[in-house]
Amino acid sequence: MTRNVMLPSGEVVPAFGLGTWRMGESAASKAAEIAALRFGLDHGVTVIDTAEMYGEGGAESVVGAAIDGRRDGLFLVSKVYPHNASRQGAVAACERSLKRLGTDRIDLFLLHWRGAHPLVDTVAAFDQLKRDGKIRHWGVSNFDVDDLAELAALPGGEACAANQVLYHLKARGIEFDLLPAQAAHKMPVMAYSPLGQGALLGHAAVKAVATSHGVAPATAALAWVLRQPNVMVIPKSTQPERIQANLTALNLSLSAADLAALDQAFPPPRRKVPLETT
Ligand code: NDP
Repeated sequence: MTRNVMLPSGEVVPAFGLGTWRMGESAASKAAEIAALRFGLDHGVTVIDTAEMYGEGGAESVVGAAIDGRRDGLFLVSKVYPHNASRQGAVAACERSLKRLGTDRIDLFLLHWRGAHPLVDTVAAFDQLKRDGKIRHWGVSNFDVDDLAELAALPGGEACAANQVLYHLKARGIEFDLLPAQAAHKMPVMAYSPLGQGALLGHAAVKAVATSHGVAPATAALAWVLRQPNVMVIPKSTQPERIQANLTALNLSLSAADLAALDQAFPPPRRKVPLETT
């Protein structure tokens, strides 16, 4: 089954992608990482999330190797470091990312988090990259509601296509305000660390829901994130059988009883919680 989100431009993007943090850090694991990404692509995944930060370019090189000869039809997401996000620096960083990825365009280019460079300069650089055809969309990551409002007020700021933030059962703060704010602007949320970096998977409530459906805990945890219409997940794994389990989340609908049990174990926010990042 395919689940999609819609960008503000109207472009439809699959709601499931492959994360790559911790890839590209060691030569010894490169072949397994490339094989894992190819396994995902062979099983219908078209979205890959990476960043210049991951392995200091190493993850983008892994992605480049995995997509070699099969670029068309993919939706590649990469991110610029805040310290590179100046008017000139973001353009240069994008060009380096393109080279490592072995492609002429990035589908979605994100500011990894807010740094010292004025947002207006970053937006101008993103705008330029778009006009030059080097990126198709741009967005941000780790932006809270007030950051998004500040961005939207800048010239060109309304073109922001997505915000990638921490979201999983133990980190539900965005449900209070950021999720509804982004829904109102039809801007998808890309949920990072949707498995809580694996830490969620031993939790009794997650295991109980998973067992009742005959699936892995990771499948249940991802299905929970995907219950929201405006949200993408980008779980990372270097193990094909885990990628398979993660993909199974696209076919799992949690019942009202499952959701109630998970709410009991992981209560939804009742007031504003500053955006979490870990
Ligand atoms: P995830 O929540 O995706 O968890 C990844 C961990 O869970 C890995 O240790 C992985 O190990 C393990 N795992 C994956 N699938 C399973 C499974 N089915 N069963 C058991 N364990 C599993 O964490 P990430 O932090 O990697 O987040 C996902 C992606 O989000 C990143 O890779 C990155 O692309 C992005 N990200 C973005 C951030 C930002 O600031 N914008 C911050 C953090 C992440 P193994 O590989 O051995 O299977």
